Amino acid sequence: MAADCLFCKIAAGEIPAETVKQADEWVAFRDINPQAPTHILIIPREHIPTLNDMGPDGAGLLGRLLLAAKEIAADEGIADSGYRAVLNCNPGAGQSVFHIHVHLLGGRAMGWPPG
Ligand code: AMP
Repeated sequence: MAADCLFCKIAAGEIPAETVKQADEWVAFRDINPQAPTHILIIPREHIPTLNDMGPDGAGLLGRLLLAAKEIAADEGIADSGYRAVLNCNPGAGQSVFHIHVHLLGGRAMGWPPG
């Protein structure tokens, strides 16, 4: 756990969040400022600041985060209508919390390219 990391504190239960699902390695909770009817963040319990900090040994964890997004999309009823699972890396891509997280967004039509 990293001191002063918001998402480490959420994973540890020190800061409340609307958790929707969790496992040994990850926690999923609703985004406080949702950008779609369903907007859930899936975070590893381990503190990893950005995707750039992951090496080849992170492949399994990254895969399981994406599979968690798939499972939660089904739970939320957006698997068939469509959803987006995105990971912002560094400020130029919009990352504001430096503990990696997959955004699961769905429940509305989405444009491409993203802004
Ligand atoms: P990013 O900009 O990709 O780093 O995403 C960070 C996300 O965390 C944003 O969508 C925020 O709305 C969300 N967020 C920030 N603080 C909280 C919080 N306390 N609980 C839930 N979501 C949060």
